[in-house]
Amino acid sequence: MLEIMNQSFVTISIDDGHPTDLRARDLLEKYGLKATFYVPARNQERAVMSQAELRSLGTRFEIGGHTLNHVPLKMLPKRQAWAEINDGKKWLEDLLGIPVLSFCYPRGKFNAATAALVEEAGFLGARTCLFNLNTFPRNPFLWGVSTHASSHSPFIQVRHALLEGNLTGAVNFFRIFKASRDWESHFSRSLEYVARKGGIAHLYFHSWEIDNFRHWEKLERVFRHISAGRKFISTTNGELYRLWNLNLATARRRVMTLNCSSCRDGVYNAIYAAITELNLQLPKEKRIQPRPDTVLFGNEGKLDSLWLANFIVMAEQKLDDAFGIQVDLTRDDPFSTENGHFRTVESLARYASAEVENENKNGE
Ligand SMILES: [Zn+2]
Repeated sequence: MLEIMNQSFVTISIDDGHPTDLRARDLLEKYGLKATFYVPARNQERAVMSQAELRSLGTRFEIGGHTLNHVPLKMLPKRQAWAEINDGKKWLEDLLGIPVLSFCYPRGKFNAATAALVEEAGFLGARTCLFNLNTFPRNPFLWGVSTHASSHSPFIQVRHALLEGNLTGAVNFFRIFKASRDWESHFSRSLEYVARKGGIAHLYFHSWEIDNFRHWEKLERVFRHISAGRKFISTTNGELYRLWNLNLATARRRVMTLNCSSCRDGVYNAIYAAITELNLQLPKEKRIQPRPDTVLFGNEGKLDSLWLANFIVMAEQKLDDAFGIQVDLTRDDPFSTENGHFRTVESLARYASAEVENENKNGE
């Protein structure tokens, strides 16, 4: 499992099967890169390439399911959502003559029920529009991406991440992506990170959007950058879903226990230092006490999601200063904003201590 996590994967996904995807295909071929095209049978908003074009695309690249009609699934009654997912799969399989194992939620809209239907239909994984992520997810049906090739303002990036409960993404946006607005520099942050730490740099785009922005040269520069990086392993989305299934499916959620007595004081000091720094920025009435029982987040918590994201960045920095290791406080389920360990200073300290302990062990 660790071996896979340490490798530097790059994957590209292209949504909607618009005819301009063929131009993207030519560029991918020029640089020898793999990619996954997610294609619906029909799309009310835009043209979809012909079946002959799709069949020929499928001989060189992975094609993934994107439903029949490209409608947001979580708004549909269950039976209709099932038909969109399952019939979209059958349609592609009949057309291509091979199993279709990768899925992508139209317009990034899904909930737990739709994710379960996708799994039931026999897909191995499903890509979301959760941004600013560079690692294997805990749940392959909530697969995130690093960068959307379309420039979003920092405000939109953070708002989007928090609305979707993607706290890891919101924190990463500052921590790894340095609040980059331009998608090319945003994605190079991801490449840099993954080259150094391992993980997945995942670029996703719509070719029609690249066309509208006249970003083809920019896209080519990015492809050249990837193909020049010797460390990178270019994969389809489906290959990563398969890797996940082979290696991570049985990995159990780690049990966090407070067994790090020696580092505990250091962890508290680091968290208190982060609180002091945060208080300098918080309005007076929102300031928080550096005490174990201070409620940080959730019911009666003092911090909203945005301040929590800021606080996490500061706390990680202080832990790094104190222990010389990079502790990831958001590694657990990026989906749950109700994450127990951000509840109080004490629960956070317990989690951080276990992380520090773990990092120490790994480093030995
Ligand atoms: Zn789409």
